[in-house]
Amino acid sequence: GDIYIGHEVLPRKNSHGFELTDPIAFAPLKQAVEASAGKTWTGGPIVDGIAGKADLAVVNPATGEVVGHTANTDAALIDQAFTSAAEHQRAWNRIGGEARANILDKVADLYEQHIDELVAMICREAGRTLNDGISEVREAVDFCRYYANGARQHFSKPTVLPGPTGESNELSLCGRGVFVCISPWNFPLAIFTGQVVAALAAGNAVMAKPAEQTPLIAARAVQLMHEAGIPKKILHLITGTGAAIGKPLLDHPRVAGVAFTGSTETAKHINMQLAAKDGPIVPLIAETGGQNVMIVDSTALPEQVVDDVINSAFLSAGQRCSALRILCVQDVIADNLLNMLKGACEELVLGDPSKLETDIGPVIDEKALGMLERHRELMNVEGKTLFAFDESKRPQSGTFFGPQVVEIKDINLLKREVFGPFLHVVRFKAEELEEVIRRINATGYGLTFGLHSRIEGRAGAIFKRIDAGNCYINRDMVGAVVGVNPFGGMGLSGTGPKAGGPHYLFRFANEKTKTVNT
Ligand code: NAP
Repeated sequence: GDIYIGHEVLPRKNSHGFELTDPIAFAPLKQAVEASAGKTWTGGPIVDGIAGKADLAVVNPATGEVVGHTANTDAALIDQAFTSAAEHQRAWNRIGGEARANILDKVADLYEQHIDELVAMICREAGRTLNDGISEVREAVDFCRYYANGARQHFSKPTVLPGPTGESNELSLCGRGVFVCISPWNFPLAIFTGQVVAALAAGNAVMAKPAEQTPLIAARAVQLMHEAGIPKKILHLITGTGAAIGKPLLDHPRVAGVAFTGSTETAKHINMQLAAKDGPIVPLIAETGGQNVMIVDSTALPEQVVDDVINSAFLSAGQRCSALRILCVQDVIADNLLNMLKGACEELVLGDPSKLETDIGPVIDEKALGMLERHRELMNVEGKTLFAFDESKRPQSGTFFGPQVVEIKDINLLKREVFGPFLHVVRFKAEELEEVIRRINATGYGLTFGLHSRIEGRAGAIFKRIDAGNCYINRDMVGAVVGVNPFGGMGLSGTGPKAGGPHYLFRFANEKTKTVNT
């Protein structure tokens, strides 16, 4: 439908859905996933359109098999990419928002044409389920078209401003220079694409750094972007671990801005590194973790709550920044609700992400699995287990962690985000609601928040007091749609502006005013 950007409306449609229950519609995707078994891809650096060597193995978290190779980009190649990007960025900026938007629309078209291949790669490299893979490609497509429209609207011609008689004034937006875009593995295509496309739409050149676990899908995305017409000297792929390449990438004198999505700890580290640099002050856009809470009061509909909790806490193996971590339930309905939740948890299927019946795929790697296993041990001591996944149903290979539900006394017990299918439950009494809200805000995070209540006026009142970027009332807390639920947090959860929202592109731009004495 029509999408509001700033104060105007530009016509735009989000990407098409996908009917998984229709065998004809599903057949090409099924074939692509089956054909990808045993296949390997290359995902090393791509500088000036030339793919560099790739000799480090990338593994499928569901099986441990090698699915391709990547490399730590060496400092000389990073320097070459910056030099090339900086040299060509002005020309890219000069072609204007409309011309850049036309290319970004082509990226969206190419992604849609390659949806089966892209979903297969997301599934095999990141262990995401088919449903997740499809949603992710659709989100990436939506980012391309949304930011393309933003470029058309705001970067094509200056805004005329008022002035006294004899003076004309206008305000223009232009690219800042070379943007470094650093993305996580949990949405290896959508977040990677969103950052890169926003920076490009605003007239920047881009050094794109994907997570070490998911460089293959990033490399394929960059190939498609180049094929769509994004100049090879404007978009470079810089692969490698943060530990190996973070310093040469961020210390480079050509860095004009950084867009980062990942953990709060890494964002702070990058912020300090940028602040210590000589030269211009480099802006950081950071989208980070959350300690996301849902409040359920005694008037909520229990069946709907259970559905929404399952979706929010466990799908995508709980590896969404928006995922529900702490469920606060009013005591009078808690026993009944938690019994129903336990029953629903027993139905969840953990296993091969390429099978349609799978609800929960693997967690990303051994490190993530170890963190979750340590947290389970801690919760065995500090909390009361309400549901523990039957370990005999856990696949023998791959990094799988079954869903867990544990009751704890207090939100404060959790000091950090637990990134996986692990739900914590806290009971509260009606008179403690204010204190619950205070404690949620006191975590310092502010990403997503959920409320289930049928008390008129409660949603509005709580919304005003909760410090969270995305508040969901009487629904689940995941699956933000581009241009519809702009996404991003505050406090420890990020700097804003919201991805897929009307203000995002402005942070990638410099503003210039022209005043002429006529
Ligand atoms: P991460 O460990 O912080 O890594 C994120 C990115 O930063 C990766 O590309 C990583 O590279 C890179 N990196 C790490 N150290 C670096 C350094 N010193 N210099 C430069 N780059 C460096 O986070 P993650 O485990 O990939 O992602 C999960 C986190 O992301 C969770 O906290 C989740 O909540 C958050 N997240 C937030 C949002 C949001 O929109 N708010 C969305 C998705 C995820 P390597 O992996 O190669 O080291």
